[in-house]
Amino acid sequence: MNRYPFEYEPSKPIVPQIGEWVADVFYDILPEAGFEVRDEQIYMAFQLEKAFADKQTIFAEAGVGTGKTLVYLLYSICYARYHRKPAIIACADESLIEQLVKPEGDIAKLARHLGMTIDARLGKSQDRYLCLKKLDNARTDYEEPELYKDIYEQLPAFVHKSEGMQAFHAYGDRKQYPHLNDEQWERMNWDPFQDCFVCDKRHRCGQTLSREHYRQSADLIICSHDFYMEHVWTYEGRKREGQLPLLPEHCAVVFDEGHLLESAAQKALTYRIKHPIFEELVTRLLKNEMRETLAVFIDDAIERSERLFELLEKHSDAIAGSDRRHIHVNKELIQAVSRLRESLDGIEEELVFESELYNLDGYQLRIVEEHLEMMQKALSLFQSSDSLICWATDSPTGLTLVIMPKAVKEVLRERVFALNMPVVFSSATLSVNDSFDYLAYSLGVSKYLSFSVDSPYDYEGRMEISAPRLSNGQSYSFEEKAQAAVQALLRTEGRALLLFPSREELKRFKEAIPALPELFGMRFGFEGDREISHLIADFQSDETSVLCAVTLWEGLDIPGPSLSNVIVWSLPYPPNDPVFMAKRQEAASPFEEVDMPYMLLRLKQGIGRLIRTRDDSGSITILSAELHSDAELRAQVQGILPQGVVLRDHPLSEWKR
Ligand code: SF4
Repeated sequence: MNRYPFEYEPSKPIVPQIGEWVADVFYDILPEAGFEVRDEQIYMAFQLEKAFADKQTIFAEAGVGTGKTLVYLLYSICYARYHRKPAIIACADESLIEQLVKPEGDIAKLARHLGMTIDARLGKSQDRYLCLKKLDNARTDYEEPELYKDIYEQLPAFVHKSEGMQAFHAYGDRKQYPHLNDEQWERMNWDPFQDCFVCDKRHRCGQTLSREHYRQSADLIICSHDFYMEHVWTYEGRKREGQLPLLPEHCAVVFDEGHLLESAAQKALTYRIKHPIFEELVTRLLKNEMRETLAVFIDDAIERSERLFELLEKHSDAIAGSDRRHIHVNKELIQAVSRLRESLDGIEEELVFESELYNLDGYQLRIVEEHLEMMQKALSLFQSSDSLICWATDSPTGLTLVIMPKAVKEVLRERVFALNMPVVFSSATLSVNDSFDYLAYSLGVSKYLSFSVDSPYDYEGRMEISAPRLSNGQSYSFEEKAQAAVQALLRTEGRALLLFPSREELKRFKEAIPALPELFGMRFGFEGDREISHLIADFQSDETSVLCAVTLWEGLDIPGPSLSNVIVWSLPYPPNDPVFMAKRQEAASPFEEVDMPYMLLRLKQGIGRLIRTRDDSGSITILSAELHSDAELRAQVQGILPQGVVLRDHPLSEWKR
């Protein structure tokens, strides 16, 4: 098999040769297969050639329908073959990585029309895999043990055998369990508190096996932003522990929907501390022979950690619309943290002596040292700095303290942008007021290339957008919105995507449906009820069904009549959780600098779900009373609409069916 899809000339630099071939693809090969020649796509290809030739970072802002994915895929594949290292395509979330590799997706399209074999493998996030340890617990749990017993029995035979594995394969992916809802899945999937490094099932675990599979990819590894950032963040630590980094050496990275990278980076850089995990870890040490002083420090630390978590419970409260608890940091908490840190210092010092005596198992010792180091870093941030965001999350096994740095740019600058490789940010929304500086600054990118190209579609003729006036109130009641949603759904006989700003609102609508007789017989899919890629595939194939979602404002790509109607339940302002509270605190005008830009960007993305091809058309309905009472807000929303599209406010009674 030829390494390149063109005649390679070794005496000449590779990137211009890739560029020439890419031009042939867009001018000749794809048009012969029925694709149209798109000027925007060819322009983008020339821009990307510069970034790959000079190993630079590029912000590639391109509207829907420009065919941007095909451009970055072609460069990435050829560049990977030249360097003999895969390129990474990082998508905003797990449902988007599935869209890229689906049978009618862009990779399959290229393979078919260019006659290429493309080696593209998925590197899914750790929490997308079943954990054998947790499955064991779930099987003996009082909640639905039969469900987990069945899953256990259907695992590949080699999982249950102790002898060497002749033939093994990856398994345990979330996608293989579409019937489980998110809650059921979370009882058996990997979570950050699983200690894989010391797990005796590691070599038979589906997650380990999948990692071995995607590492061998010759062309592309497709993962989520979260997973890429997890790789960046754990790279040094894993190497220190003698483990392979999550991703192999790679030659380039593309961040699709790159405007979302900052939040993925923040999420990956979080520290999580949980009392039962800490207690279990250090109690394991107590089973060894050790000096009494160490045993005393361990007992003290357990007691102090327990006390700290009691205080966290006392000084935190639930945030509506979020699963996070707001922590009221005060003197008592800071003192409890100091006392715990003193005990941790003591354990760390004692472990230095113990390691010289060789009483403790070396592996175990390293795990404990790593965990203590992480706790010390996190707790010192908690004690002394204004530059962190913290919150607590609740679970049946107790509170987790989560600590996240506010600024991630130093880490990104050092561990991503300084690596001398091309980095592509691709999205329809990267610039603010025609400048990329805001994004570049927040991500720590000091030198970059950039360009913008608009969508070639006729939005004015194919998209209708309205904000119906439901009453004269300052806000609409749930019942008013539900009735408006019913009218909008009847208008297109389903074929709709309903976008909610929170899980609570989605749940309330779901519970209200049985009492809305007009909707009898209409088929609904709800995010969280089943595995997301199955939910999306069913929505696409069942033309008159309705999809209700919270996270699909971005990236969902359903061309054709199945998605002819987008209903925005309310304007998607950011939640009132600690991450946004911290951003607001830093801003001179929080609403203008934080809430409004977030809402406009998300709304623009949500609106972008409707027209995915030149032939698509349909309507968008925004259920917002503020759009009738706040002229400035209305002007801002009008400002993000595609050229020529005007926000109208027909009363519901005037809607045509
Ligand atoms: S290796 Fe990790 S994910 Fe796999 S079974 Fe063990 S603890 Fe669970």
